Amino acid sequence: MFINTFLKRGKIPLKQGIFMQILSDKGLIIKTKNYNIGLDTASSDCDCCFLSHAHTDHLLKTDKKVLCSEETRILSKIRGREVRVMQAPKNIKLFNSGHILGSKSLLIEEDGEKILFTADFCPRTRGFMEGFKTVKCDSLIIESTFGRPYFIFPDFEEEMKKAKDFAKDNIKKDYLTVLMGYPLGKIQQIQHYFKDYEKTIHPDLKVYNDVHDSFGVNLGIFNGLEESDLLFTPLMKTNNEYFNNIKRMRGVKFAVFSGWNIIPSYKDRFSADEGFTISDHADFKELLNTVHESKAENVYVHHGNCKEFVNILKAEGINAEKV
Ligand SMILES: [Zn+2]
Ligand SMILES: [Zn+2]
Repeated sequence: MFINTFLKRGKIPLKQGIFMQILSDKGLIIKTKNYNIGLDTASSDCDCCFLSHAHTDHLLKTDKKVLCSEETRILSKIRGREVRVMQAPKNIKLFNSGHILGSKSLLIEEDGEKILFTADFCPRTRGFMEGFKTVKCDSLIIESTFGRPYFIFPDFEEEMKKAKDFAKDNIKKDYLTVLMGYPLGKIQQIQHYFKDYEKTIHPDLKVYNDVHDSFGVNLGIFNGLEESDLLFTPLMKTNNEYFNNIKRMRGVKFAVFSGWNIIPSYKDRFSADEGFTISDHADFKELLNTVHESKAENVYVHHGNCKEFVNILKAEGINAEKV
């Protein structure tokens, strides 16, 4: 009830002198004694902004100073959003969110109170991506992209083994295997797993692969299309001009990689032959674990299946609200 009253005004007191402001576009700002920090958002109310990672729905167009990793600064610039980076103040920590290269979560500590903000995060270690580790906090602001009990992901290694079997079978039959995924993050995971194969990439991936390479992620050696068994591309429909040209030269099998592949018809949207459920987000169980492990007194849920996840938390007696 207490939280609800404040929610209507768009301003929630987290602790003495610390507030969370909810903007009309659902953006969140943490207002501490010293700073107003936009969380993946930049409004005139912010002194500075936290940029969690370089996926397009999080990028910022701002001349304010930004807290982000060096990887995110570079990737953001490539995507047309150059930011001025500031040093994190002593009471603010950025730490690995396990989502994509350079992705961070934010921990603010003021007068002994800890506020943790997760943007997109993933606790599973997958290939070169180390998983997110929960930090104990008083207030937890958590994403809920996959916050429904239906969303339980298979084991990464087991799912990738299935993908490997699919590719091996295609190689035996002399098909080219096209592996498609989100061009920043997902597709580098998949390339890393298949790094010892004869392979090539769609030209759009090169710039993101190069950033991974410059941060020490080994994606292996790339060949021309003719010598390759595998072709990595962004997610797209399989009947476009790019693929039709390739199909005229040789037989092709298509696979999509996404957490959304957990929905049975997902691969049909792209007319792909196979789909593999590989996600860079926490699944339902992992979201729940994160809430439990954080021991947070108050949990604020943003992004995705907020309502359903909040109701599940409330049924457990946890003080939770959608923001
Ligand atoms: Zn993301
Ligand atoms: Zn996102």
